[in-house]
Amino acid sequence: MRPNTPLVDRIAKGTGVCVEMIQDTISRPTPGEGPCWEWNLSFAGVTPMIMLDGRPQPVRRVLVASIHGELPSTIRVVPVCPNKRCVNPNHTMVKNQFVDGLMTLTPPADFETAEDDIMDVVDTVYSTEQPWDAASLAEQFPVYTEEQFAEAIRKIEDEGL
Ligand SMILES: [Zn+2]
Repeated sequence: MRPNTPLVDRIAKGTGVCVEMIQDTISRPTPGEGPCWEWNLSFAGVTPMIMLDGRPQPVRRVLVASIHGELPSTIRVVPVCPNKRCVNPNHTMVKNQFVDGLMTLTPPADFETAEDDIMDVVDTVYSTEQPWDAASLAEQFPVYTEEQFAEAIRKIEDEGL
């Protein structure tokens, strides 16, 4: 996916960051650099979401895909910024869920633990209508896997999260 004006305009609208800075970051990503881009529009749990191609998609993943091209489903895009609303791709990390190796876009100092990750999935589950189904949730929110949704649903039901 190529960066396009409509996406940049929409990110500007959702964050209040100027179009020039967004365009510049997308064309020349520099890990760790720049201010936070605080998302002010819709969220799924704690995950910033944007409507694209007729469905809600995670903003960070859309931005990273606009820089690096289409992302395979095994690639997860995770925030490494302490600011939960931040979608700046310079504050975002790309991770292969099946390999321990990380493709790091930012220094992993603030990288969240697996336990935090599952809490994000739990938040996402809570943001949707019951009854919950791991497979359809995974389809709706491709940033997480069906296994992660199954685990989150189990935690909600068994541990009363
Ligand atoms: Zn940030």
